[in-house]
Amino acid sequence: MKTEDKRQPVLVTRPSMPELDEYVNELKDIWDARWLTNFGAKHEAFRKALISRLGSERVELLVNGHMALELGLKALGLESGEVITTPFTFVSTTHAIVRNGLTPVFCDISPDDYTMDVSKIEDLITDRTVAILPVHVYGNICEIEAIQDIADRHGLKVLYDAAHAFGERYKGVGIANFGDISIFSFHATKVFNSIEGGAAVCRDGAVSEKLRLLSDFGISTETDIDETGANAKMNEFCAAMGLCNLRHLDREIEKRRQVTCAYRERLEGVKGIKLNPLQDDVESNHAYFPIVVEDEYGMSRDELSDALNEEGIFARKYFYPLTSDCGCYKGRFDPAATPVALDISKRVLTLPLYASLDEETVERICKVILK
Ligand SMILES: *Cc1c(COP(=O)(O)O)cnc(C)c1O
Repeated sequence: MKTEDKRQPVLVTRPSMPELDEYVNELKDIWDARWLTNFGAKHEAFRKALISRLGSERVELLVNGHMALELGLKALGLESGEVITTPFTFVSTTHAIVRNGLTPVFCDISPDDYTMDVSKIEDLITDRTVAILPVHVYGNICEIEAIQDIADRHGLKVLYDAAHAFGERYKGVGIANFGDISIFSFHATKVFNSIEGGAAVCRDGAVSEKLRLLSDFGISTETDIDETGANAKMNEFCAAMGLCNLRHLDREIEKRRQVTCAYRERLEGVKGIKLNPLQDDVESNHAYFPIVVEDEYGMSRDELSDALNEEGIFARKYFYPLTSDCGCYKGRFDPAATPVALDISKRVLTLPLYASLDEETVERICKVILK
């Protein structure tokens, strides 16, 4: 790990990038082919690489994770009704539901791993419920078996927002293989990026095919337009970046693991600082390092965040506010209906974490927290 310039601000994340030459090499093919988007050679090569990496056949590439969510719900044929979801997530999750004309119904989260509290799902099911949309938040895996069991008993679809969970495995099985659909984000800030990008992995071939049509205006053949689609195709430049970054992903995740170990060595056992749990049966991608600031710490989350800012360290209040409390949803939902999520959102702080974060900087960050 090399030492970073002390005067540089430490941001919460820093995108992974291949060597420029490696990317330029991919670009040469694009120049030769003069095929820039619409399911070109890089798109197909990246899709194939993901099929092998994720251990799932039905991978569709999208322009970003959000459109994977939004079109994923549409591909499942959900046109009206309620979707049980979590407010402790990025706004994209909730927006995807609302923008489909569906109604989000917020389920509280577990205080241990911040994923949906499965014991509270069934009370929220009504005759209007059509789906469950859980989030593997921070890469913490949801209670997959329990959620599937509830969905099966009530005839509900399950769409996982796995934007944080790329490359993870649960009980040895790739995380893409759960639910009717699992979606990923390849945004620059995520563990694995294609600059902007996303993917949806579908259990059912027909859903997968519909999703592909929806991402290309619903155009089946030149004269057959079979769906009210959007334009959500991944272009060749993003696919090329994805191909490059995928080659280095294992090393990046290993470096992230080392950073989280450095944090844990210094912060484990600190009074009032709760660390993200290490889950059994989960092969983690070390996407985030959230801490929860409890009363015993003696300082609020906001005060700790300010103290870090003063040292040029920019941790993020991620996720705050709850999506149910966002300006555009004011008055529509009651954030107090999910008290655990509301409490955690006021206490959580996500510390800087990226592959090239050196131990000295981790030390500097932890010193502020320990002071
Ligand atoms: C990043 C993210 C998204 C959206 O993905 P984009 O690729 O940025 O569109 C959706 N859900 C969660 C939980 C995310 O973190």
